[in-house]
Amino acid sequence: MRIGVILGDGIGREIVPATQRVVAAATAAAGIDVDWVDLPVGLEAIESHGTPIPDSTLATLDELDAWILGPHDSAGYPERFRGQLTPGAVVRKRFDLFANVRPARSLEGVASMVTDMDLVIVRENTEGLYADRNMFAGSGEFMPTPDVAMAVGMVTRKACERIAHTAFALACARRRHVTIVHKANVLSMTTGLFRDVCREVGESSYPDVRIDDEHVDAMAAHLVRRGRDFDVIVTENMFGDILSDLTAELSGSLGTAPSVNASETKVMAQAAHGAAPDIAGRNRANPTALMLSAAMMLEVLGDRRDDHRLNAASRWISEAVRDTICSGVATADLGGLASTAEFAETVLARTLRR
Ligand code: ATP
Repeated sequence: MRIGVILGDGIGREIVPATQRVVAAATAAAGIDVDWVDLPVGLEAIESHGTPIPDSTLATLDELDAWILGPHDSAGYPERFRGQLTPGAVVRKRFDLFANVRPARSLEGVASMVTDMDLVIVRENTEGLYADRNMFAGSGEFMPTPDVAMAVGMVTRKACERIAHTAFALACARRRHVTIVHKANVLSMTTGLFRDVCREVGESSYPDVRIDDEHVDAMAAHLVRRGRDFDVIVTENMFGDILSDLTAELSGSLGTAPSVNASETKVMAQAAHGAAPDIAGRNRANPTALMLSAAMMLEVLGDRRDDHRLNAASRWISEAVRDTICSGVATADLGGLASTAEFAETVLARTLRR
């Protein structure tokens, strides 16, 4: 099996190799041969190929079903690359990775603000209020004059239908409750269409799933006050990005929040956090989020290929990460003393013990 690996920028250069080692150990223990395919993206690619996302990287990803993407620090790129789509957005757009699935689950041993949170945000990833990806050519964000800036939001029935199916199918395997998050009292056509199509899909195809809907601002308050009451939350691109940082912090920390980006055929593991330039290169980053993202990626592959060895490897990684934290080994963001390398060693040892 071939899995792509992209270090990215900042802490990616520490957390991606740590994650790769754990995935390699778990898949080997499950009897799966993995052929790792290293691909440049970000500052490394600017130096070697003159662009943050080389065509050769995209061409290789085209051949792969799965890869791990390290975070990118596009704000740190040379000026001429800064107005462009970020590497993550290019990859999501190119491969139509429409579903960004971001679980937020309180971890034992982590002092979280909401102790028994167990929810999943299903974020539409290809359109919505993030204008930069809404055009065939050019950007949906533009400035007619130096003092006026505009942005074009886009919501299509097709994109709403497919993200709704992802959310409702997921809810069927969980607590059968979907909350649709929108802002239809103000953005009545765009987010109103999102709300209505999601509800139609739920009512027509998933009659056993309870549906409710909330305005995004009210939802932010509900998550803080009663985050344990939610199961699956489906929402548009920007709302999902913001709410998932909130749920990450409420359930633990940004460093523990995993995510995958998926199309019908491809799956990309990508932590919800960014490149954290403030702690990069200091052996302080928490690799939990990326390790759990990689575990999710293996689970998606296992389900798609009907290969239970992949599901077992996924389970071993998640359990090893959770047991490690529960045993008191944690990085500084969780109040612990472990370095990235020490944390990774402990997870690796626990993965191999299974
Ligand atoms: P982006 O917009 O690319 O998602 P961001 O602006 O949201 O990035 P991050 O890079 O995610 O910012 O960092 C936000 C804060 O969280 C920083 O203080 C950073 O150090 C911290 N942080 C993020 N990820 C981790 C991690 N894996 N381990 C420890 N701290 C982290």
